[in-house]
Amino acid sequence: MNLYNTLTRKIEKFIPNNDKEVKMYTCGPTVYHYAHIGNLRSYIMEDVLEKALNYIGYDVIRCMNITDVGHLSSDSDTGEDKMLKGAKREHKTVMEIADMYTKAFFDDCKKLNIKKPQYVIKATDFIDKYINIIKTLLEKNYAYISNGNVYFDVTKLKDYYSLTNHKEDEMVVGVREGVEEDLGKKNQSDFVLWFTKSKFEDQELKWESPWGLGYPGWHIECSGISISILGEYLDIHCGGVDNIFPHHTNEIAQSESYLGHKWCNYWFHIEHLNDESGKMSKSKGEFLTLSLLEEKGYNPIFYRFFCLQSHYRKQLLFSYDILDSSVNTYKKLKSKIKTIKENKSGSIDYEKVKIYKDKFVNSLENDLNTSLALTTLYDVLKSDINNATKLYLIEDFDKVLSLDLLKEDIVNIDDELLKYINEKIEIRKKAKENKDYELSDKIRDELLEKGIIIKDTKEGTIFEIK
Ligand code: AMP
Ligand code: ZN
Repeated sequence: MNLYNTLTRKIEKFIPNNDKEVKMYTCGPTVYHYAHIGNLRSYIMEDVLEKALNYIGYDVIRCMNITDVGHLSSDSDTGEDKMLKGAKREHKTVMEIADMYTKAFFDDCKKLNIKKPQYVIKATDFIDKYINIIKTLLEKNYAYISNGNVYFDVTKLKDYYSLTNHKEDEMVVGVREGVEEDLGKKNQSDFVLWFTKSKFEDQELKWESPWGLGYPGWHIECSGISISILGEYLDIHCGGVDNIFPHHTNEIAQSESYLGHKWCNYWFHIEHLNDESGKMSKSKGEFLTLSLLEEKGYNPIFYRFFCLQSHYRKQLLFSYDILDSSVNTYKKLKSKIKTIKENKSGSIDYEKVKIYKDKFVNSLENDLNTSLALTTLYDVLKSDINNATKLYLIEDFDKVLSLDLLKEDIVNIDDELLKYINEKIEIRKKAKENKDYELSDKIRDELLEKGIIIKDTKEGTIFEIK
């Protein structure tokens, strides 16, 4: 496998520490709101990476955190805790918010055929691990206490900016718009390992620590969880490009200072999905969620396909027109597969299987080139090999692509049916607005009779076909 490594800024041969075993860590969601489809792009591509590694013969041990404390409004330790903000917005407790959005996140993952990592750890479950690391960092003089908080001193490192090729000033300005400077820090780039009550009076979750009642910084969570679950040597660490600085830069600083040796060899970063107004963000009011796409009649797998058509290191522009064009391509693909299924003939030709499998592996090994992998799939469909061999290969490639290529129900929703359902939903919405519940119930039952289940969600009405 050849992968682009952010650490070396080169495409490199991927060689794990332990022969055929890969230890992989993924920064998980901050569960203060729904994931937007940009976040989900990162998780889709990480899922493809895990499955591609499996496909080419590695055993992947993967861990993901759930950030339910410590991620402040600015990634560099200023502003309010995002969880607290979410709880206030919805008049719930932080734990209620965390549970609700963790569930919503994994529901989205399931719909997108994203496999749940073997280890999923809530940040609040590993507080003692962070405290131990911070104690060691203080003992080793990498950290200091100021105004009741514990900070990591970045000047103690020769190579703090190893993961980014930016100058310190540029990075600092980029992430700190509109937030006040923390006067407790000795240096601008120092970051918080442990906050105490002295800083955020209304923080809901706090724990006893040698430095007072408080809570951990966001960055220490990933180091603590990764080292506890996957050990001192990590093969590959993933996240979106916005995680490079400060989050991953700080993870490297604290992990390697604590361990006393190099921690992770490969850093895999996914470029952003942007909408027409720029980077996707949850602070912009209404934002694009998977449920919103579903509400508009898109099957989540259409979105997975849309993501796989592009390389993970290229920015991807989202618009409904571009998504529609992916939907059409996907539908054509499925209808070709349907014809092949209906005309299954011949016996599997393993020589041909090997030729196409090699091509497929080559595209994955070529810095996870998913669009090339899809081209190999089209090549199989176009080729003159018999249908039994084609079906074998389609099923095999789908272990990595996870596009439900052999599943029938997805594109049986033809455009006519879609139009019909949307019209009915619209009439039902009007009926409900006019308090005509008899009519709205009638429409619901009419759809149900046809095997169409409708659900009212906060984002509007969505439907599912049985
Ligand atoms: P968060 O829940 O904010 O911690 O983000 C979860 C993941 O989504 C992280 O790996 C981010 O780097 C990634 N991410 C955030 N915004 C985008 C975007 N617009 N496109 C792709 N990935 C993103
Ligand atoms: Zn992380």
